[in-house]
Amino acid sequence: MGTVVSLTIYPKDEQEAQEAKALEQRILEELWHLERDCLSRKADSSEVYNINQHAGDLGEMPVSEELGKILEECRQMTEDSDGAFDVSIGALVTLWKIDEVAAGEIQGSVPSRAAVENARSCVGMDGVILENGCIRLKEGMMLDFGSVGKGIALDHVEKMLRDGGDTAVPAGVFALGGSIYVYGNKPDGTPWRVAVKDPFSSGGNVGVLEVPAGFKVSTSGDYERFFEADGRRYSHILDPATGYPADSGLCSVTILSESGFLSDALSTACYVLGKEKGSALAEKYHAEYLFVDENGEIFMSNGMKSRYFSENGVGN
Ligand code: ADP
Ligand code: MG
Repeated sequence: MGTVVSLTIYPKDEQEAQEAKALEQRILEELWHLERDCLSRKADSSEVYNINQHAGDLGEMPVSEELGKILEECRQMTEDSDGAFDVSIGALVTLWKIDEVAAGEIQGSVPSRAAVENARSCVGMDGVILENGCIRLKEGMMLDFGSVGKGIALDHVEKMLRDGGDTAVPAGVFALGGSIYVYGNKPDGTPWRVAVKDPFSSGGNVGVLEVPAGFKVSTSGDYERFFEADGRRYSHILDPATGYPADSGLCSVTILSESGFLSDALSTACYVLGKEKGSALAEKYHAEYLFVDENGEIFMSNGMKSRYFSENGVGN
């Protein structure tokens, strides 16, 4: 997933500590499975890689029930976001190579307008045909689940904990990069708190959110994966409408939802849509939002306001 995975489990006693170890192992295996066998665009063992390889083919290409379901949920989000969120965006993602730049593998450069237009013509969910358990992609199209993979993975972790039965650990925090799931009650009885990074100062926070057990929090921003050229910042969330990095005036979008898929998908979608359309979309899904705009101003849903504490501890 190209990010840091952090699993924190709070066992009550020695026996639970043993169970926690086993659980940790199983969760890591599940994350590897999801990435290597299903969602990765880069691992040649994955279903998505295989489907992308066959873009343009007219033959039958079976799709797993799991991936088919994810694709339908993504298609709905594309419709609801007027195309701002689109997992068929792979051709643009591979053109801009912003993740590779951010990882220090290559130097960033702005592609030609013609190359952007060409890649943009290979994006759009109408080029993804799902029929009778088979999938067909338009020629040149590539699926990319970078916007939702971590959220989906958190939903899998939740399911494992629910179905765990014999391995009922009481509490934990599961963080996959900027997507976090808090589970159970903290042993000291205090609420779970998740800090929201300040997009303008590394190491700083714009505030802290009290997150109810069972919820997921995802943040998308322009301050970690980007490069700078010609005096502007090119970050890794792209606007399918233009083919260029999104430029909606928001620098950071945090979404709180009971669904990991929704928190991750909406954080990307709202980042592209900007303040007005983004807040309307989050509301449609009953998700709470916190936006930081390019002037450092914070905008929150009412539900988020009641969970938000600024750095000096005063509710806002
Ligand atoms: P992060 O991966 O940093 O947590 P996001 O969840 O917002 O951030 O996902 C960004 C990733 O999603 C990009 O690296 C790219 O792979 C993909 N992506 C970029 N733009 C879009 C978009 N408009 N819709 C869907 N996926 C996108
Ligand atoms: Mg996302």
